[in-house]
Amino acid sequence: MPHTPERAGEATAYTPALGELVWDATRKRVGEVMDRQWSRYQLRPPGGGIEWHAESHDLRPSGASRQGQRCEECSRIKSAYYAASRVGDRDGAARWTTAMGLHQWAAH
Ligand SMILES: [Zn+2]
Repeated sequence: MPHTPERAGEATAYTPALGELVWDATRKRVGEVMDRQWSRYQLRPPGGGIEWHAESHDLRPSGASRQGQRCEECSRIKSAYYAASRVGDRDGAARWTTAMGLHQWAAH
């Protein structure tokens, strides 16, 4: 267990896998996990772009609410995103990334 005294008492068990899409609660955007070192994650905009770093306590699962409830809108946006990125439609993927960001911000 990593020792993080400044975050004592705040349990953040969420540890996304590489390649997973996550929600950065600080920057209000979705990123793809490229790398991880301790509690620091390297994120990249889905479909490509400039990478950024985020702390694990800022990350939330993208596609499910924290309560683990299934969200139809998230599923819909996620499927559309994967469909677009599968065929190399970067503009489409970027649009769905934005849609996911707005939806996460508004609904979760
Ligand atoms: Zn949702």
